[in-house]
Amino acid sequence: MVRLNEIRRNEVAVEVPTPDHAGLVFIGMIRTPWTSRLDCPRMGRSDGPVCRIEIHEPWVAALDGIEAYGRLEVLYWLHQSRRDLVRQSPADDGVTRGTFALRTPVRPNPIGTSIATLVSREGAALLVRGLDCLDGTPLLDLKPDRSLFTPIAPAQPGDFQTG
Ligand code: SAM
Repeated sequence: MVRLNEIRRNEVAVEVPTPDHAGLVFIGMIRTPWTSRLDCPRMGRSDGPVCRIEIHEPWVAALDGIEAYGRLEVLYWLHQSRRDLVRQSPADDGVTRGTFALRTPVRPNPIGTSIATLVSREGAALLVRGLDCLDGTPLLDLKPDRSLFTPIAPAQPGDFQTG
Protein backbone atom coordinates (compact mmCIF):
# COMPACT_ATOMS: atom_id res chain seq x y z
CA MET A 1 0.00 0.00 0.00
CA VAL A 2 1.46 3.33 -1.03
CA ARG A 3 2.60 5.51 1.86
CA LEU A 4 2.22 9.27 1.86
CA ASN A 5 4.28 9.83 5.01
CA GLU A 6 1.70 8.64 7.53
CA ILE A 7 2.54 6.37 10.48
CA ARG A 8 0.44 3.20 10.49
CA ARG A 9 -0.87 0.94 13.22
CA ASN A 10 1.93 -0.78 15.18
CA GLU A 11 4.69 1.00 13.27
CA VAL A 12 7.64 2.29 15.27
CA ALA A 13 9.29 5.65 14.69
CA VAL A 14 12.51 6.83 16.32
CA GLU A 15 14.17 10.18 16.77
CA VAL A 16 16.60 10.53 13.87
CA PRO A 17 20.14 11.30 15.06
CA THR A 18 22.09 14.26 13.75
CA PRO A 19 23.37 13.48 10.22
CA ASP A 20 26.90 12.14 9.91
CA HIS A 21 27.59 14.36 6.87
CA ALA A 22 28.60 11.79 4.31
CA GLY A 23 28.89 14.72 1.89
CA LEU A 24 26.79 13.20 -0.88
CA VAL A 25 26.41 15.22 -4.05
CA PHE A 26 23.49 14.88 -6.40
CA ILE A 27 25.02 14.27 -9.82
CA GLY A 28 21.86 14.68 -11.84
CA MET A 29 18.11 14.41 -11.91
CA ILE A 30 15.75 11.66 -13.04
CA ARG A 31 12.79 12.56 -15.23
CA THR A 32 9.95 10.04 -15.13
CA PRO A 33 6.22 10.08 -15.95
CA TRP A 34 5.26 9.79 -12.27
CA THR A 35 4.47 12.86 -10.17
CA SER A 36 2.66 11.03 -7.36
CA ARG A 37 3.63 8.02 -5.27
CA LEU A 38 0.11 6.77 -5.88
CA ASP A 39 0.99 6.19 -9.55
CA CYS A 40 4.64 5.23 -9.26
CA PRO A 41 5.47 1.53 -9.74
CA ARG A 42 6.70 -0.32 -6.68
CA MET A 43 9.59 -1.84 -8.63
CA GLY A 44 10.97 -0.85 -12.03
CA ARG A 45 10.26 -3.17 -14.95
CA SER A 46 12.39 -3.75 -18.03
CA ASP A 47 9.28 -3.11 -20.15
CA GLY A 48 8.42 0.07 -18.25
CA PRO A 49 8.35 3.52 -19.86
CA VAL A 50 11.49 5.23 -21.10
CA CYS A 51 12.80 7.62 -18.44
CA ARG A 52 15.50 10.25 -18.74
CA ILE A 53 18.52 10.49 -16.48
CA GLU A 54 20.00 13.99 -16.80
CA ILE A 55 23.60 14.33 -15.66
CA HIS A 56 24.70 17.71 -14.33
CA GLU A 57 28.04 19.36 -14.89
CA PRO A 58 30.82 18.76 -13.98
CA TRP A 59 29.91 15.05 -14.13
CA VAL A 60 29.02 14.68 -17.83
CA ALA A 61 32.59 13.59 -18.66
CA ALA A 62 32.08 10.67 -16.29
CA LEU A 63 29.64 9.12 -18.78
CA ASP A 64 32.50 8.24 -21.14
CA GLY A 65 32.27 4.56 -22.06
CA ILE A 66 28.87 3.95 -20.52
CA GLU A 67 27.25 3.04 -23.86
CA ALA A 68 29.18 -0.26 -23.70
CA TYR A 69 26.79 -1.45 -20.99
CA GLY A 70 23.23 -2.42 -21.79
CA ARG A 71 22.27 -2.53 -18.12
CA LEU A 72 23.09 0.00 -15.45
CA GLU A 73 22.74 0.07 -11.71
CA VAL A 74 21.07 3.39 -10.87
CA LEU A 75 21.23 4.79 -7.34
CA TYR A 76 18.92 7.63 -6.37
CA TRP A 77 17.80 9.60 -3.35
CA LEU A 78 14.14 9.05 -2.49
CA HIS A 79 13.87 12.64 -1.39
CA GLN A 80 10.23 12.63 -0.28
CA SER A 81 10.64 9.72 2.14
CA ARG A 82 10.34 9.95 5.88
CA ARG A 83 13.43 8.50 7.54
CA ASP A 84 12.44 7.62 11.08
CA LEU A 85 10.65 4.24 10.95
CA VAL A 86 12.36 1.09 12.28
CA ARG A 87 9.27 -1.14 12.01
CA GLN A 88 6.86 -0.79 9.12
CA SER A 89 3.59 -2.26 7.96
CA PRO A 90 3.75 -2.38 4.14
CA ALA A 91 0.20 -3.76 3.85
CA ASP A 92 -1.14 -1.38 6.53
CA ASP A 93 -2.65 -4.39 8.31
CA GLY A 94 -0.98 -4.01 11.70
CA VAL A 95 1.73 -6.58 10.86
CA THR A 96 5.14 -4.94 10.98
CA ARG A 97 8.66 -5.89 9.90
CA GLY A 98 12.03 -4.26 10.40
CA THR A 99 12.99 -1.61 7.86
CA PHE A 100 16.14 -3.50 6.83
CA ALA A 101 14.04 -6.55 5.97
CA LEU A 102 12.09 -4.47 3.43
CA ARG A 103 12.79 -2.62 0.17
CA THR A 104 10.62 0.23 1.38
CA PRO A 105 11.56 3.78 0.33
CA VAL A 106 11.24 4.76 4.02
CA ARG A 107 14.71 4.20 5.47
CA PRO A 108 17.27 6.18 7.47
CA ASN A 109 19.18 6.89 4.25
CA PRO A 110 16.50 6.71 1.55
CA ILE A 111 18.65 5.31 -1.25
CA GLY A 112 16.80 3.53 -4.05
CA THR A 113 18.47 1.23 -6.55
CA SER A 114 17.25 -0.16 -9.86
CA ILE A 115 18.77 -2.17 -12.65
CA ALA A 116 17.89 -0.13 -15.73
CA THR A 117 18.14 -1.03 -19.41
CA LEU A 118 20.07 1.57 -21.38
CA VAL A 119 18.07 2.58 -24.46
CA SER A 120 20.32 5.36 -25.72
CA ARG A 121 22.48 8.29 -24.78
CA GLU A 122 21.62 11.85 -25.81
CA GLY A 123 24.62 13.96 -24.84
CA ALA A 124 24.38 14.56 -21.09
CA ALA A 125 21.26 12.40 -20.75
CA LEU A 126 20.62 8.67 -20.72
CA LEU A 127 17.32 7.17 -21.78
CA VAL A 128 16.56 4.05 -19.75
CA ARG A 129 13.78 1.67 -18.82
CA GLY A 130 13.32 0.01 -15.46
CA LEU A 131 12.96 2.89 -12.98
CA ASP A 132 10.39 3.33 -10.23
CA CYS A 133 10.97 6.84 -8.90
CA LEU A 134 9.14 10.15 -8.98
CA ASP A 135 9.87 12.82 -11.55
CA GLY A 136 12.62 15.05 -10.15
CA THR A 137 14.27 12.38 -8.01
CA PRO A 138 17.94 13.28 -7.42
CA LEU A 139 20.56 10.94 -8.88
CA LEU A 140 23.34 9.63 -6.65
CA ASP A 141 25.36 7.31 -8.89
CA LEU A 142 25.48 5.12 -11.98
CA LYS A 143 27.46 1.90 -12.39
CA PRO A 144 27.57 -0.88 -14.96
CA ASP A 145 25.45 -3.81 -13.83
CA ARG A 146 27.86 -6.04 -11.94
CA SER A 147 26.97 -9.09 -14.01
CA LEU A 148 28.20 -7.29 -17.17
CA PHE A 149 31.29 -5.72 -15.64
CA THR A 150 34.75 -7.17 -16.00
CA PRO A 151 37.23 -5.47 -13.66
CA ILE A 152 39.99 -3.71 -15.57
CA ALA A 153 42.59 -4.36 -12.86
CA PRO A 154 44.20 -7.85 -12.84
CA ALA A 155 42.37 -10.52 -10.87
CA GLN A 156 43.47 -11.04 -7.27
CA PRO A 157 43.19 -14.10 -5.05
CA GLY A 158 39.85 -14.03 -3.28
CA ASP A 159 38.10 -12.00 -6.00
CA PHE A 160 34.45 -12.89 -6.30
CA GLN A 161 33.88 -14.93 -9.47
CA THR A 162 30.77 -13.89 -11.39
CA GLY A 163 31.02 -16.87 -13.76
N1 SAM B 1 13.75 0.00 -6.68
C1 SAM B 1 14.14 0.79 -5.54
C2 SAM B 1 14.78 -0.13 -4.50
O1 SAM B 1 14.42 -1.30 -4.44
O2 SAM B 1 15.67 0.34 -3.79
C3 SAM B 1 13.00 1.60 -4.93
C4 SAM B 1 11.83 0.75 -4.49
S1 SAM B 1 10.59 1.71 -3.62
C5 SAM B 1 9.52 0.38 -3.11
C6 SAM B 1 9.69 2.46 -4.93
C7 SAM B 1 8.60 3.33 -4.35
O3 SAM B 1 9.21 4.47 -3.74
C8 SAM B 1 7.67 3.91 -5.39
O4 SAM B 1 6.60 3.05 -5.66
C9 SAM B 1 7.19 5.21 -4.71
O5 SAM B 1 6.09 4.93 -3.87
C10 SAM B 1 8.36 5.58 -3.81
N2 SAM B 1 9.15 6.69 -4.37
C11 SAM B 1 9.59 6.83 -5.63
N3 SAM B 1 10.31 7.95 -5.78
C12 SAM B 1 10.33 8.54 -4.57
C13 SAM B 1 10.92 9.72 -4.07
N4 SAM B 1 11.65 10.55 -4.84
N5 SAM B 1 10.74 10.03 -2.76
C14 SAM B 1 10.01 9.21 -1.97
N6 SAM B 1 9.42 8.06 -2.37
C15 SAM B 1 9.59 7.74 -3.67
